[in-house]
Amino acid sequence: MIIDDHLHWFSARPMNEKELVMAAAESWSEDEVNTDVYTMNRLRPFYITLKKRLKGLFGDNFIEERNKMVKDDPVNYVKFLFNDAGIVGLVIDEGFGKKEMEIPIKYKLLYRVETLIDKGDLFLLSFDKALEVFEETLRRKISEGYAGFKSIIAYRTGLKVSCDEDLARADFASKRAEWFGRVSKGFRDFLLCKTLEIAKELKVPVQIHTGAGDRDIKLELTRPSYLTDLVRKYEGSVVFVHAGYPYHRESAWMSYIFPSVYLDVSQVVPFAPLASFSVLKEVYEVAPINKVMFGSDAFRIPEVAWLAAHLAKEGFNELKDEMERRKLFEVEDLEEMERRFFYSNAARLYNF
Ligand SMILES: [Zn+2]
Repeated sequence: MIIDDHLHWFSARPMNEKELVMAAAESWSEDEVNTDVYTMNRLRPFYITLKKRLKGLFGDNFIEERNKMVKDDPVNYVKFLFNDAGIVGLVIDEGFGKKEMEIPIKYKLLYRVETLIDKGDLFLLSFDKALEVFEETLRRKISEGYAGFKSIIAYRTGLKVSCDEDLARADFASKRAEWFGRVSKGFRDFLLCKTLEIAKELKVPVQIHTGAGDRDIKLELTRPSYLTDLVRKYEGSVVFVHAGYPYHRESAWMSYIFPSVYLDVSQVVPFAPLASFSVLKEVYEVAPINKVMFGSDAFRIPEVAWLAAHLAKEGFNELKDEMERRKLFEVEDLEEMERRFFYSNAARLYNF
């Protein structure tokens, strides 16, 4: 039984191989930039692995076979994939893409705070009123049944967050903008601090994007350790999404010293196929076993979640073998570690 603790809206629709290659690409699409992005996407370890595994499931004509099932009944196709991988629950960050099909298994939603900030309406209000609307919206989302919040501030102004109200007021007034809207770093920072406050009070987790991401990422500002002051004595729960990869060792260490810090290995698994062993191994060098969760970061197509679950299971088995060989954990401890990673840590945190 697996809960995928981080993914986005996806849908199953017929596509040719080129469309499949591009569907789960984190780089530019061909209409966004006039250069050959297809070749690099086709030659990613991720796609080469996906192709091999889909051939394993459907045979050499995997595109045709897949499309046949999708055309026949897309919801049933997703059920088939998730059943094959053992996926029983999803935590969806609804801020990317939109719901295009029925989701055939139990899922929880996270409210992405930048959805509200980027819309720009807050900036038409006074600072105090904007703060009030922000707080009200967050509280309402939880009362509507959302399981927590998500922030992608790493894609906006980076993780060097300061909770300084004077700075927030000053930056609120500044009209400097980037492609996503107002920059207003101090204000965005302050709203993330508010989010943590509200989440603690309402006893829900906050996912924060850390580490590598897609083409919009401010990669140089995504180190998990920039969040140290924010989480040091925080008494709620923060999930460092993607384990902060390639800075996953920082995340693991922070989860070791700060009670508030959790992490998932989404995106690393499955977009870095080999890392489904090596990153798990490095994370579990030190991370307490109640802190680490499986996630896929699937978006657009369900096959990403399917592949991630398989790779994670294989990586995890290698990890268990290694720890057993070295006589580090009892067999029961290894079983608990596995149960927690794939299911129970997320079940508890997101209230399944
Ligand atoms: Zn994501």
